[in-house]
Amino acid sequence: KNDHLEAWDRENFFHPSTHLAEFARGVTPQRIITGAKGCHIEDRDGNRLLDAFAGLYCVNVGYGRQEIAEAIAAQAKELAYYHSYVGHGTEASITLAKMILDRAPEHMSKVYFGLGGSDANETNVKLIWYYNNILGRPEKKKIISRWRGYHGSGLVTGSLTGLELFHKKFDLPLAQVVHTEAPYYFRRDNLEQTEAEFVAHCVAELEALIAREGADTIAAFIGEPVLGTGGIVPPPEGYWAAIQEVLERHDILLVADEVVTGFGRLGTMFGSEHYGMKPDLITIAKGLTSAYAPLSGSIVSKKMWAVLEQGTDENGPIGHGWTYSAHPIGAAAGVANLKLLDELKLMENAGETGAYLNAAMADALGDHAHVGEVRGEGMLCAVEFVKARDGRVYFEASEKIGPQIAGALLAEGVIARAMPQGDILGFAPPFCLTREEADEVVGKTAKAVKSVLG
Ligand code: PLP
Repeated sequence: KNDHLEAWDRENFFHPSTHLAEFARGVTPQRIITGAKGCHIEDRDGNRLLDAFAGLYCVNVGYGRQEIAEAIAAQAKELAYYHSYVGHGTEASITLAKMILDRAPEHMSKVYFGLGGSDANETNVKLIWYYNNILGRPEKKKIISRWRGYHGSGLVTGSLTGLELFHKKFDLPLAQVVHTEAPYYFRRDNLEQTEAEFVAHCVAELEALIAREGADTIAAFIGEPVLGTGGIVPPPEGYWAAIQEVLERHDILLVADEVVTGFGRLGTMFGSEHYGMKPDLITIAKGLTSAYAPLSGSIVSKKMWAVLEQGTDENGPIGHGWTYSAHPIGAAAGVANLKLLDELKLMENAGETGAYLNAAMADALGDHAHVGEVRGEGMLCAVEFVKARDGRVYFEASEKIGPQIAGALLAEGVIARAMPQGDILGFAPPFCLTREEADEVVGKTAKAVKSVLG
């Protein structure tokens, strides 16, 4: 049935984030997804797979939620589209903005809607530049990001992303983006360092970068509360407080990229709350609609809003807008999604079952000779593999340990993600994961690890 799909796929479809030559050679498997419910997806070959990565850590409330599907259908029938320029809105977009601000930290003021995480971070950079221009300091422009951070794959957002793959052959990063140390304690250069000493080292690196560039040239610092695509790395104790102290002293804005952590993944509404961050901008996407429709946002603080609003008196309308900003269908999905999150107490489950999953994974794999670390927070979990624990010998990316184990796990019916570094297996299940499903993920992961590494 539908046998033409494989051929059409190869002939016409340019897959993102794909090794194009391997795909053409048939090394990359083609998988055509046909349906999904709860934590499971189904493919055309009749496989039913437990999706322990929630798509791309985005289907937070789980698949097949009829309430969201119906809200989307009702919105499409009633009013599929109208724009949100020059004061226009819809019931769905206005309601969703209110729901977001009701859930956001007290010091936030407004939400600017986009489509995905990349364009929301693009918006953030423009708002930061606009803000500093209004304040008469256009030279305060550079953005500090961290190595291993992930903030999107456009020109400025791919520059913010601190992974080489997103820079090489694209002439990135752009000159206005500079990178600093990632808070990746496990991979510290000096294994003798305590966590507190490592935090002090990260702070010293940041201070040195600011001194080198000049504080009057630096506008903002962007970071994910927990590093995501760069390896699922929760920060060491005290990291965010120490970083924020530096930023405040140099009048540098803080952007919390909460595309992954926003709306409950750490068991709190925002990761910023979890780590006591006080961001000037918060990026939201994925969990805003649980990916039932594309929608993202930049939540702007009261402090920034006051300046932006005043700036338009002199400058006219802000020159920034997308045709699909606050798209009614995305907004309707967002409203229904956030209602479900509350009604089913899914954020609470992300915290509780996430802690259970992390503890069970650590129990099952923590002592394995090739497991360097099991780490996570809430419904985020990672296993990092090492060639040898003694003396900390890492695998080469070319050994493809992560992809091999992810492949063995897939054969067992569980989807995890081999993180780009190559030796990390990542888990970010939907929040409706049950303890039984968590046990299945852990049991099958242990089996897959054994089959590859003994
Ligand atoms: N920011 C973070 C933290 C992300 O994890 C991602 C995507 O994974 C993005 C931004 C980019 O979002 P999108 O792929 O929707 O453009």
